[in-house]
Amino acid sequence: MAGEPQADCLFCKIVAGEVPATVVRDTETVLAFRDINPQAPTHVLVIPKAHYRDAAALAAGAPDLAADVLREAGEIAAQEKTVERGYRIVFNTGAGAGQTVFHAHAHVLGGRGLEWPPG
Ligand code: IMP
Repeated sequence: MAGEPQADCLFCKIVAGEVPATVVRDTETVLAFRDINPQAPTHVLVIPKAHYRDAAALAAGAPDLAADVLREAGEIAAQEKTVERGYRIVFNTGAGAGQTVFHAHAHVLGGRGLEWPPG
């Protein structure tokens, strides 16, 4: 059921404390932790604690929670002092776009120049 923890989900395991992570923000609804394979000096993943498979499912099923994720992404950018130089919030959605973990997450990337279009 949408929102329920999934036994085979890596990010649900991080929320449950079963897999370690370097947590940078932890609210009632959202967890943010450093990406294990950072692509920029700041590379933080922001996830809803509830399980939704991707950003579209999150926005459709729990719009207030989607807003929480976006708000926290902005807070992290400020906390990491990436705002002045610019930063990127990315939701890879679907395997064809590079999504590998099917628990909705925003990548917050910053601290270096970011090219457009992305690869
Ligand atoms: P996606 O490819 O957009 O689904 O992003 C998944 C991200 O999760 C990738 O950037 C991975 O490096 C990252 N990742 C995978 N396992 C872990 C972990 O255990 N801790 C933190 N980040 C992880």
